[in-house]
Amino acid sequence: MSSLVGNRAVVLGGSMAGLLAARVLADGYAEVVVVDRDRLSGVTTARRGVPQGRHVHGLLARGQQILEELFPGFTEGAVAAGVPTGDLGELRWYFNGARLEPARTGLICVSAARPVLESHVRARVAALPNVTFLEEHDIAGLVATPDGGRVTGARVRPQAGDGDEVTIEADLVVDTTGRGSRTPVWLEEFGYERPAEEKVKINLTYTTRHFRLPDESILHGDLSINPVSSPSHPRGAFFSRIEGGRCVVSLTGVLGDSAPATPEGFMDFVRSLPVPDIYDVIKDAEPLDDPVSFRYPASVRRHYERLTRFPDGLLVMGDAACSFNPVYGQGMTVAALEALTLRTHLRKGTEPRPLDFLRDIAAVIDVPWNISAGGDLSFPQVEGERPLMVRVMNSYMARLQNAMSRDGVVTRTFMRVAGLVDPPQALMSPGMILRVLLKGGRPQASAPWRAESRTESSIPKDVRISG
Ligand SMILES: Cc1cc2nc3c(=O)[nH]c(=O)nc-3n(C[C@H](O)[C@H](O)[C@H](O)COP(=O)(O)OP(=O)(O)OC[C@H]3O[C@@H](n4cnc5c(N)ncnc54)[C@H](O)[C@@H]3O)c2cc1C
Repeated sequence: MSSLVGNRAVVLGGSMAGLLAARVLADGYAEVVVVDRDRLSGVTTARRGVPQGRHVHGLLARGQQILEELFPGFTEGAVAAGVPTGDLGELRWYFNGARLEPARTGLICVSAARPVLESHVRARVAALPNVTFLEEHDIAGLVATPDGGRVTGARVRPQAGDGDEVTIEADLVVDTTGRGSRTPVWLEEFGYERPAEEKVKINLTYTTRHFRLPDESILHGDLSINPVSSPSHPRGAFFSRIEGGRCVVSLTGVLGDSAPATPEGFMDFVRSLPVPDIYDVIKDAEPLDDPVSFRYPASVRRHYERLTRFPDGLLVMGDAACSFNPVYGQGMTVAALEALTLRTHLRKGTEPRPLDFLRDIAAVIDVPWNISAGGDLSFPQVEGERPLMVRVMNSYMARLQNAMSRDGVVTRTFMRVAGLVDPPQALMSPGMILRVLLKGGRPQASAPWRAESRTESSIPKDVRISG
């Protein structure tokens, strides 16, 4: 804490974005207070404020690297606590029903249940001497100067006791309350415009169940099996071995399709996946809970960077700024990248200037947004404009996905880009284009399996698998 830029920073929301913000703010403010409606201390299971925590959460490679940078020894600590890890390129990935040629990437997949990952991050943040948590407090609103030019604190309401509102004064308030953030409403109250919102409606559902395998040798050492949803094979799934000898399966349906949250419906959907691997692994496994569904109607990007006026003393980060289609696994890593951006601003030695910060994180958001929103637009049924660039990229990506079933170099390059480690330009180098052209024909054929058991009637007509 060599150069403090302020006395107190308040972080609204103590999930991943809030924790990572608190970590870097602790270097710039004498005191950091993290407020959340949930009880956080010691919690390692899904909580009310983060219901998506029940579902598979992959941490992208860049996210793992940033966690390691912000919390040295993080990965080793997680492994010591029983979290399995593996090489991201060596997971069992399937695109369009074809298995990707495995490739050693050196990129680490940390395979923890989402609440467990959060608990490891929280433990490291809680160990910082100048960070405190105000748990089980509802955030009611912001406090600002009479002219609305500066946010000076937040109003919070304890869930226990008389429930009277308390104001916490702050030099800086950071909104990390997630997708349901009320900053657009608060801005309006203070006389500002709301940010423009961009939406890509994917109408996605995750349905998740945990299992214990009778014998893990059936996995042949694999950490994860991921038949990824694509226009030709819209039904997808993520299977991961996680801590505590457990496995988690999240089934993904798009455009209104969804795996039922019943044991029978769940297994029917598993049988309808393009490859049999997950069915084979879990058919004799012990279910540890009932299936649970989570609906995700649309990716939402709030373009704060386009505003011309914004109050001092307020920043927005994480899902509050942009919520990505979760199948691309980007949210936590983007929050981590934004935390690094915040650190850069703090290192200037002065309080972050909100519009400068919001423009800088917009630049961070651009690449993952183009990957996920662009990928969603490859489904013809998804509404949205498809400029020439998007059409060209999607047709190139379809060939590239095919090439990955034959060429580990393509797999490795793709994993580095999808993991937000390398820029997308890495996929467009002359050498890569040549490989994609040579090897990107039809994907390696994999015979349809158990076609008779597909529950065709449950797949909406407009997403029915062709071919
Ligand atoms: C089904 C699903 C799967 C996902 N899979 C992945 C994945 O594989 N990889 C990945 O990186 N990301 C994934 N994500 C996204 C990821 O969950 C988020 O990006 C990540 O949690 C960061 O979000 P956040 O911290 O900004 O907000 P959130 O996680 O939404 O947290 C908001 C916090 O604010 C608190 N809060 C909100 N309002 C109030 C209030 N009024 N008063 C008090 N407290 C409040 C909540 O309790 C919560 O703790 C997935 C999302 C979904 C929906």
